[in-house]
Order: sequence, then C-alpha cells, then structure tokens
Amino acid sequence: MTTTLVDGIGLLYTGDPEREEIADAALVLADGLVAWAGPAAQAPDADARVDVRGRAVIPGFVDSHAHLIFAGDRTAEFQARMSGESYTGGGIRTTVAATRQAGDAELAARARALVNEMRAQGTTTVEIKSGYGLTVEDERRSLEIAAGLTGETTFLGAHVVPADMDADSYVRLVAGEMLEACAPYAKWVDVFCERGAFDGDQTREILSAGMKAGLGVRVHANQLGEGPGVRIACELGAASADHCTHLTAADVDALAASETVATLLPGAEFSTRSPYPDARRLIDAGVTVALATDCNPGSSYTSSMAFCVALAVREMRMTPLEAIRAATYGGARALRRTDVGWLRPGARANLVVLDAPSYVHLAYRPGVPLVHQVFQEGLLLEEDIQNPPSDVVL
Ligand SMILES: [Zn+2]
Repeated sequence: MTTTLVDGIGLLYTGDPEREEIADAALVLADGLVAWAGPAAQAPDADARVDVRGRAVIPGFVDSHAHLIFAGDRTAEFQARMSGESYTGGGIRTTVAATRQAGDAELAARARALVNEMRAQGTTTVEIKSGYGLTVEDERRSLEIAAGLTGETTFLGAHVVPADMDADSYVRLVAGEMLEACAPYAKWVDVFCERGAFDGDQTREILSAGMKAGLGVRVHANQLGEGPGVRIACELGAASADHCTHLTAADVDALAASETVATLLPGAEFSTRSPYPDARRLIDAGVTVALATDCNPGSSYTSSMAFCVALAVREMRMTPLEAIRAATYGGARALRRTDVGWLRPGARANLVVLDAPSYVHLAYRPGVPLVHQVFQEGLLLEEDIQNPPSDVVL
C-alpha cells in the first residue's frame, strides 16, 4: 500500500462537522481513502508527497441532483424566456422527443461528456436521473446508461405525463411495468410533484411502489408553487426534497422535524429568472440544506457547483461556510452517503485543490475557474482533466 501526504494546504475545509476548517493542514491518502487529516506540523510520514503550496483544499463536490441523459437542445426556449416568456415546465416534452430519437451510444457519449465537465470543475459524486424517455424502454435504457456513470441513479419516469397519454394510465404504467423494468438499474425513485405534472395522490402512489421495489425516495417538490410535495417527502422518509422554493410554515416545520434534506437548486431560479428559495429560513429552522446543479437542458444548463455556491451566497444569503457545507456534506446527506462529502479518516479520498487560499473564493471570485487539481479516490486527475480514465464510475 502506497501512502501519499498532501502537504502545504493553506486552509482545509474538511466537511466534517466536528472539525470543519484546519489552517496549515495536511492529508494522508491510502488505498483511495483518507487515512489522516490534521495540522501539517503533526502529519505522519508517507511514501509520496504532494505539496499544494498554500492552496485551499475541499472535499469533491457532491452534486445530488442532475438530469444528464438527454439529447437535443433548448437554446431557443432559453432565448425566448430571457426575452420575457415565463417558464412552465412544458419544454420537457421537447427534450423527450429528441431523447427518444437518439441512439444509446449518443446518449451515453453526451452524458459522459457532462460528467467529465463536472469532474473538471471539482464534482466527484453525481446523481443522475432518467425522465426524458417516458416509455418503458426509453426509461430503462436511460437508467442503464446512467448506471455506467454513477452509483447514484434515479428513476424519474414521473417527470411529466407524455403528450400521447392520459395521466391515470401513465401513473399506472410508471408504478407498474416501467418501475419493474427500471428498478434493476436505479437506487432511487423520484416524482415531479407540481401543478401541471403529478398531484399528491399520484406522487404517493408512484413513490410507494418504488419503495416496495426497494428504491430510496427523493421528490421534486414545491418548485413552481406551494403544494404537497415537501410534506409527502417528509412523511415517506425521503432522503431529499428538491427545489423547496415555495414553502409554507408547515413545510419548513415538517423538514425540520424529519431526516429529509432540503436540496436547493439555484441554477434553476437563475436560468428561469425566478425568485430564489429562502435558504436562511430553512437553515435557521435547523433543516439540513444541500446545493446541487439540477443540470438539465431546459431550466438549468450548468454543471458548475462553484457557480451554485456563488449564487447561494449572493442570492440566497447563505454564508460562504454554509454554502460550501451544503455543496459537499449536504449533498452527501441528500444521498444518504457517509463515504463522500467530507475528508476524514475512512472517507473516500475525493478532494479538490483550489487555486485560492480559501474556499471563500468560490463565491468571492464567481465565474473564475479555480480548480487546480482533482483527486478521485486518491487518484490525481491532473494530466488530462477533461478526459479522465473512462473506468472511473462516480
Ligand atoms: Zn430536477
């Protein structure tokens, strides 16, 4: 076993609530895991040494909400929206048509390119949803492709009712034959619970069927208006309620009393020119908050967690510490993972070296590429960061 000392860390953000920040720090990596973290002066010996020369180190970002299996392009829709049209979610059907037309190889290549783009920006764990197929076979192949890229796969057959079906028949299909075909490739089940998508009863029916099939629960909840999504998520013990933009006091109380993480997706509000979620209200109520990109071709076509951190600080009044915590530790909680999202002994050695003295620069220098190096399970992805080894599954 070779051990590597990562030395000269100006400021280490560990993500570990017991000791979140360590100045003048070092890490020891062994066997793809963190073996030791602490002040450099106390670091044990190791076989190899990497000196990061005063740069900051953070855990790799955990992007717990992304829609990467799709084809087509929605530039025109974005352009129209930025010229004054409002976002309704109806554009999803445009992507569905393009995705059904595309072959497996094209869908896989596009998704892999996005995963590589994410990794180059410091994301070392990503969740990937289906939801642009909406037939049994197109959802199944979407999840099979996703499973080749990440262990965090989510069946989102209930993204929108396809144009050629009535809602009741589609809900029966999703909770029956489609779920059965998709469950072998999926870890999670998700429903877009929203006016115009799926109502409370339909959401409960699909999520309950998914739970019976052994899947964990996550919910697209309360994005475009108030509704039952967050309360259903909390009732069913969902790992995460995502969006949480329009919440009642009862919704906030339910989240605070539950283990359900509130995952905020400010890229969606940015890209649809909509009001942001009230992160302060959630954090002050004691809710665990995560940040994710919601990367998708319609409402948030960004793969940058750093951009979401900057938005969270500037637009949602999160402190820089709260934002980096939500993008790492919070994302891991939203996926019920304890092996990623923090750098403490036993965790995966997924870390990002920033060209900056502090994680605060992620918000202080928005839009600036600050990722200097990425380690994925102890492996330095520095030589060709856009094309890392293809066998690394996040
Ligand atoms: Zn989404």
